[in-house]
Amino acid sequence: MLFCSRFFSNMTKRDYYEVLGVSADAGEAAIKKAYRRLALQYHPDRNPGDKNAEEKFKEASEAYEVLSDPEKRARYDRYGHEAVSSAFSPGGFSWENFSHFGDFEDIFGDLLGTFFGTGFGAQRERRQVNKGRNIRIQYSLTLEEAFKGKEAEITLKRLEICDKCKGSGLAEGAKVNNCPRCRGTGQVRVIEGFFSLSTTCNRCHGAGKIVDKPCPTCDGDGRVEKKVSIKLKIPKGVDSGMELVLRGEGEVGPQGGPRGDLLLYISVEEHDFFKRKDDDIYCEVPISFIQAALGSEIDVPTLHGPAMLKIPSGTQTHEVLRLKGKGMPRNEVACGDQHVRVIIKTPTRLTARQKEILKEFAEIEKQHAATDDRGFFERFKDSLNDMAKDIFKNP
Ligand SMILES: [Zn+2]
Ligand SMILES: [Zn+2]
Repeated sequence: MLFCSRFFSNMTKRDYYEVLGVSADAGEAAIKKAYRRLALQYHPDRNPGDKNAEEKFKEASEAYEVLSDPEKRARYDRYGHEAVSSAFSPGGFSWENFSHFGDFEDIFGDLLGTFFGTGFGAQRERRQVNKGRNIRIQYSLTLEEAFKGKEAEITLKRLEICDKCKGSGLAEGAKVNNCPRCRGTGQVRVIEGFFSLSTTCNRCHGAGKIVDKPCPTCDGDGRVEKKVSIKLKIPKGVDSGMELVLRGEGEVGPQGGPRGDLLLYISVEEHDFFKRKDDDIYCEVPISFIQAALGSEIDVPTLHGPAMLKIPSGTQTHEVLRLKGKGMPRNEVACGDQHVRVIIKTPTRLTARQKEILKEFAEIEKQHAATDDRGFFERFKDSLNDMAKDIFKNP
């Protein structure tokens, strides 16, 4: 134990306000500021081997623990040290009872990197130390493959168990000893000035064991890089940006630790004819003005195979018609739709007979339009007359 408990078993405890050098009505900010000043002054890193500084530092931390908590502070103000001492372990103050680690960033934010460095982060995100890493790869496939799903085989290099040592990392006849630094626990308690925390031992990297003679093939890591091929099934309907996770297909961990995962980032190639948006497919199909005018039925390519599309008579160019359920798989049973934009193509090479028919068509069209206009004028005249009658009736 780095901190000596002598001070705290001492019967004469200093007043917390006196310790921090603040007045009895000091506000939260003043208390924080005073603690910061003292903590920096007596930080053990700045006073190596100075027992007195350590005690001062701990004393200030205890005072801060109490005075920064309105409820504890109120009790202390009324009843003194006895009222708050139960918050600490029998030996006195201990860091396990110090509840303000979260405040450190606030109080010492600018200094965290210096004082807490790796230790602080290690405390926050402790993870299984000997788990193998995940492997991330991009996997491209065509739209047709994404539509149907695919049995794929991918080849990649990943860290596999070393055949020579079977993953143990030991040379023949080597001995495994507990790591002297962490005594086999893989974790070391570090006094990072303001508190003690446990962090991964940097001698054994958390394994807790040290090998006297490492395997010459893998240098004691227990792993070597190998080329492997993996069979997998890409489900139908996958889209660009999706990620498939193959559990336990990543790298094997050091010294035979569990495998990480294989993450497949899906990328579906652009298609010449079909455009995809989510589960729907879009395409453009040319039709003749005759088909548009008279209506017809045409075959349209879809990912499901050719499908019959009904063109209603009087269809305009760029109208979008829908083929229901002819899109990408949405789930096991349902599919999106295919949206077909029809583009009316004007004929460019007409025969004499076709021209003759079209001219005749134009002639009829002209008369038809003229009849239509006259009809409109007649109706217009009638309604004017009606209005005039109304006006004369009710002047
Ligand atoms: Zn080996
Ligand atoms: Zn160790």
